[in-house]
Amino acid sequence: MTESHQNQAGKKPTNPPQIRSVDVVVVGGGIAGKACALGMAQLGIQTLEIAPDLSQTVPNPQGHQWGQRIYAFSPSTQKLLAHLQIWDALDHSRLQVVRDMRIFGDRAEKNDQLHLSAFEAGAPQLAWIGESNLIEHTLDQASRFQNKLERLPDAVEKIAVDADGTTLHLKSGTIIRSQLVIAADGANSPIRSKIGIAASEESYSQSAVVANWICTYPHLETAFQWFLPGGDIVAILPLPNKQVSMVWSTSPEYAANLLKLNPSEWLERFATVAEGSIAKQLGELTLNSTPTAFPLRRIRAERFIGPEATPKVVLIGDAAHVMHPLAGQGLNLGLRDVAMLLNIYSKRESFRSLNDLTLLRRYERQRQGDTSALLWVTDKLKKLFSGTSSTEKHLRNWGLGLVNKSHFVKQRLIERALGEIHFD
Ligand SMILES: Cc1cc2nc3c(=O)[nH]c(=O)nc-3n(C[C@H](O)[C@H](O)[C@H](O)COP(=O)(O)OP(=O)(O)OC[C@H]3O[C@@H](n4cnc5c(N)ncnc54)[C@H](O)[C@@H]3O)c2cc1C
Repeated sequence: MTESHQNQAGKKPTNPPQIRSVDVVVVGGGIAGKACALGMAQLGIQTLEIAPDLSQTVPNPQGHQWGQRIYAFSPSTQKLLAHLQIWDALDHSRLQVVRDMRIFGDRAEKNDQLHLSAFEAGAPQLAWIGESNLIEHTLDQASRFQNKLERLPDAVEKIAVDADGTTLHLKSGTIIRSQLVIAADGANSPIRSKIGIAASEESYSQSAVVANWICTYPHLETAFQWFLPGGDIVAILPLPNKQVSMVWSTSPEYAANLLKLNPSEWLERFATVAEGSIAKQLGELTLNSTPTAFPLRRIRAERFIGPEATPKVVLIGDAAHVMHPLAGQGLNLGLRDVAMLLNIYSKRESFRSLNDLTLLRRYERQRQGDTSALLWVTDKLKKLFSGTSSTEKHLRNWGLGLVNKSHFVKQRLIERALGEIHFD
């Protein structure tokens, strides 16, 4: 659709802005945006995905050097990717199954630990570990063959919402009209702020240093987590071929110090933390990537739909919620947003338009509980393990041992970590 464009008298003629009309726009080219755009198109809805990074080709990861962004994928993510027909297309030799999790307290006492096991829970596995690029590349491949989906490498600069839908003004000058906008534009979500959805935000005053290593002992399909005195958390996730991925959450100053270590200084550091327990579990570690740091914060949008007066926008993924990576759940939660939206739109009554308020409210209502619970637990765990008082120290370590003795509590913890979703 194009509109006539008048030039002011005496001015050089300019190209009229291109105005296009689509059913749904997904803003964002991260995993949440890509999965959502593909899923909406698979439902037969004409979908346009917009993000500046869509111009870049995500390479299919290969070789011995593993990507920098490594994620733990929960069974709910596996189920969504299977539903999108992505899971079987992944290179499974680059995915590591996790069957056990071992979490250690910060008193170095034998009983201050929690062991979660897939075997004990009667589940085939607890999670998978893999590269972000592995999923993104396969989502890109599938999107290319989806004729209801178009991708536009551009950035949204302005959004206006009226009773019928939304108007997006892009950096290139293009204008897009749509019934519905799904904002998957990340933690700083420009759409969220432009439509006036408030968000509570708290910095953890921590950065996560991530790096991949080769270990000399087998990791036994186990994910390890050490809570260290002073609030640092070291997570070591298993990867195929005796490799592991480290996420070390620490103060920004210490993170800067870690980034400067050479390989032998790293080994000395591992020997000193957690009473040498990292080396005891995994043997000698050889660096297999360049360490990088990410700042950590907690964000929760007050509403997942907006603007208040005429909601025509839905927030998903980090645009709606950001959490500490200690539970490895941020993306998994975002993909459960996607699964819920796809469920709602697959069951949409024929008399409802795509931006029908009832549908948007259904989404918001259904996603609030899961989001609040996970943000709350992650936040409280983070704070409990960074408290310095002797009471807090006793409580957290005693708590780990106590939970470890209760099959019932462990079962509930695993159920939450697995994150159930259903497709009808
Ligand atoms: C150290 C660390 C470890 C983590 N580990 C895990 C883990 O193990 N498991 C897990 O589930 N989660 C994990 N997470 C969380 C996970 O990284 C995020 O939740 C996830 O990447 C968010 O994806 P997203 O698609 O919502 O947003 P993003 O990946 O941030 O994508 C946002 C997109 O929006 C686009 N965009 C922004 N502005 C505009 C605009 N104006 N116009 C158009 N497009 C725009 C961007 O270009 C980008 O494409 C971890 C996070 C950290 C920091």
